[in-house]
Amino acid sequence: MTVFARPEDERWMREALVQAEQAGAHGEVPVGACVVRDGIVVAVAANAMRIDDDSTQHAELRAIRAAMRAVGSDRLVDCTLYVTLEPCAMCAGAIVLSRMQRVVFGAWDAKAGMAGSVSDLLRHPQLNHRPEVAGGVLASDASSMLSHFFSARRAATAAARSVDPSTSGT
Ligand SMILES: [Zn+2]
Repeated sequence: MTVFARPEDERWMREALVQAEQAGAHGEVPVGACVVRDGIVVAVAANAMRIDDDSTQHAELRAIRAAMRAVGSDRLVDCTLYVTLEPCAMCAGAIVLSRMQRVVFGAWDAKAGMAGSVSDLLRHPQLNHRPEVAGGVLASDASSMLSHFFSARRAATAAARSVDPSTSGT
């Protein structure tokens, strides 16, 4: 289900999906993000947990940091964040701190999503900033990329386990 999307949202979500695809090709969980201001992309990023050995290197957190550097401000009040997967608690916190004007995400994340799935940190009534939120934009593209990634990883793990150690490496 897509909620509160605008006509231009799919265009920018495709930019985030390109980032996600590139991350997946490098063995990262394929999640990508971009930050847009006045119709211009000011930052793009993808998951980098594996390459950085850092479980906090989520696409949207990296994109937010890059956008702050790009615009030279710690407030992203006139920016929209596009991310292919519903933000987790850490990233939702960063979104609120950055005063992001709007957040658009792709797939819902039933296990960790903090934009409505597990809870809703982005629109928590007691927090002093609540971005506008749209969810489910090109969700099937984002979720099929994720499910392909995880099924390929499971197959690789199963194949590694099935190799007989007495005959391997010869
Ligand atoms: Zn996150």
